[in-house]
Amino acid sequence: MAKRGNSIIKGIEISDLIAILNRAYADEWLAYYQYFIEAKVVKGIMKDAAIVELTQHAADELRHATMISDRIIQLGGTPLTHPKAWFEHTNCGYDEPKDFDVVSILNDAIKGEQCAISTYSKIVEMTKDKDIVTYDIVSSILADEVEHEEDLQALHDDIFDFIADLKKSMSL
Ligand code: MG
Ligand code: FE
Ligand code: FE
Repeated sequence: MAKRGNSIIKGIEISDLIAILNRAYADEWLAYYQYFIEAKVVKGIMKDAAIVELTQHAADELRHATMISDRIIQLGGTPLTHPKAWFEHTNCGYDEPKDFDVVSILNDAIKGEQCAISTYSKIVEMTKDKDIVTYDIVSSILADEVEHEEDLQALHDDIFDFIADLKKSMSL
């Protein structure tokens, strides 16, 4: 545990901080696996572009899990040690892909990112002026989640534009 490092945390209980970070840690693992499996099962129009995006996001979520777990350890805590605990602690849950169509997969993923954005903006607020190190980490993760939502929404919109163009060209 970082003794001097942790002495600079003010106005927030370290044990509360560890619990909050463990919930985010559970979210990141579930998001990682959701993207991982979505990239494997996705079908339909422009699925190659979707696979690139989903695979990239899976890697980002795993990197976020690493950042959060390292911070939990610095704070003297233990990251959740059993995958079962992910479901007990998660904020955003896990959306099992049931319909493998690219649009349905993208909708699930967009919903997940919107939950991640809400979760991290709360942690950013909570740590602001209290724990600068955690604040920095969660701010940078929040920026990634905002980018994720935007990437998925843009891809979703491209697919709809493509379908609309196709319909137009076929009716001519
Ligand atoms: Mg992306
Ligand atoms: Fe993430
Ligand atoms: Fe994300």
